[in-house]
Amino acid sequence: MKYYILFGPPGAGKGTQAGALAQKYNLCHLSTGALLRAEIAAGTSLGKQAKELIDKGNLVGDDVVEGMLESRFAQASGIEGFLLDGFPRTISQAEDLDRMLAKTSDKVEKVISIMIPDAMVAERIAHRAAIEGRADDASEETIKNRIATYHAKTEPLIEFYKAQGKYEEADGRGTIEEVHDAISAIMDK
Ligand code: AMP
Repeated sequence: MKYYILFGPPGAGKGTQAGALAQKYNLCHLSTGALLRAEIAAGTSLGKQAKELIDKGNLVGDDVVEGMLESRFAQASGIEGFLLDGFPRTISQAEDLDRMLAKTSDKVEKVISIMIPDAMVAERIAHRAAIEGRADDASEETIKNRIATYHAKTEPLIEFYKAQGKYEEADGRGTIEEVHDAISAIMDK
């Protein structure tokens, strides 16, 4: 199995890009945010716990997120691999991912970062709020906290994956098609 990571700040367009990329490369798109929102919608106890954290823009516990992913990894069939979106979000999650994949002698192939300037983040989130109605896109304070959490906890992953020679950047400022082509060029290298 091949494991690709779509990386980038909130609002960079990871979710928007993932569908077409997953189809093109026969990958299963796994968004930890979407999996958590499905748990919330289904009213599970995991969803109830996660909702409080998500609504404030804080990260959900590693065990919860990693448990959801590992059960999906185990169900893989008929695919080339996985396209992870929203995971890992911390160095400790990245280390746990390496340990999980080592069990099946797999590894992360590439980390593709969709780069947009900070000024665009708030604009993109506001646009998405109008379309998708996500609770965590509605409050300015929550958005600010998610951006701060990204800088403090997630951005250090750039150096982590650069050191492994796996980190690549795509310009996220263009149209959906332009960004798709930029990511495809990286995938095809
Ligand atoms: P996203 O859809 O990726 O923007 O995620 C929405 C929210 O879900 C985040 O702000 C976090 O509260 C939570 N979440 C998603 N992925 C993770 C993760 N890998 N670790 C912890 N929390 C996560």
